[in-house]
Amino acid sequence: MTSVPVVKLNNGVEMPQLGFGVFQVPSPETKAAVKTALDAGYRSIDTATAYGNEAAVGEALAESGIPADELFITTKLWNSDQGYDETLRAFDSSIAALGLERLDLYLIHWPLPSRDKYIATWKALEKLYADGRVRAIGVSNFQPAHLRRLFDEGTVAPVLNQVELHPYLVQREVRAFDTEHGIATEAWSPLAKGGELLNEPAVTRTAERLGRTPAQVVLRWHLQLGNVVIPKSVTPSRVAENLDVFDFTLTDADVAALSALDRDGRTGPDPDTFDLV
Ligand code: NDP
Repeated sequence: MTSVPVVKLNNGVEMPQLGFGVFQVPSPETKAAVKTALDAGYRSIDTATAYGNEAAVGEALAESGIPADELFITTKLWNSDQGYDETLRAFDSSIAALGLERLDLYLIHWPLPSRDKYIATWKALEKLYADGRVRAIGVSNFQPAHLRRLFDEGTVAPVLNQVELHPYLVQREVRAFDTEHGIATEAWSPLAKGGELLNEPAVTRTAERLGRTPAQVVLRWHLQLGNVVIPKSVTPSRVAENLDVFDFTLTDADVAALSALDRDGRTGPDPDTFDLV
């Protein structure tokens, strides 16, 4: 079985560098998708309250029989649950849905700066961490300005920042800030949702030369930059393909050619203005 390298987070906890995302997997299909991923060898699963499939993830985990200490489970606090007390309540319901005693990683899903609740929310994550209910706490979609406030007003540094990141949105500034502050960067939509990017000549030419698929080349680009990745697929052959990326490397020129596709190409909302609750 493929052995996935780990990244050591700033609190010493180790996390697989490649995991499985379940955004937009409808709840009834999630159990089968997660089981396929676990059977293929994935051990890290990324879900969120907003995805509506935490309980289905939990069922797949329970039925797998894999011990909790061999798994790495992430979920995220949804926007409408921001605030200190609301966060503590939301955590209780997430962990119950997942059927876990302790979560591996809890993230604030979006900063929602206009609502100005992410510091109170962070303090609740700090409490959950201090109480041993979660092994690591972090954020998602945080820009450097939001992270600076956490450092100024919080007491625990986030271990990780999960942001939209792929060759169309290279996120140089966010990655540099994260690195400088000991925060791991995790890429969401690492394949740019499996669209146009996988037909880019810079990607397909490299794939042909190496005898790999376009998705594998893009995932290697992430891994060689040091990103944590969580590709999603409900297609079993792709689930296996996306994990089979640890026996080849891109040259520096290949990495540079993919990075040169950067065009500020967000597929999702802008974290500075997104305020959906
Ligand atoms: P991805 O970049 O992972 O792309 C998923 C799409 O690509 C699916 O349509 C899938 O199709 C297709 N695909 C997957 N593998 C391959 C392959 N090998 N070849 C060709 N096509 C492929 O996008 P996501 O938006 O799903 O992001 C991944 C994860 O990131 C999410 O599941 C979620 O966990 C997280 N996320 C977090 C967000 C946040 O705000 N924090 C926001 C969005 C995502 P199919 O399934 O049909 O095989």
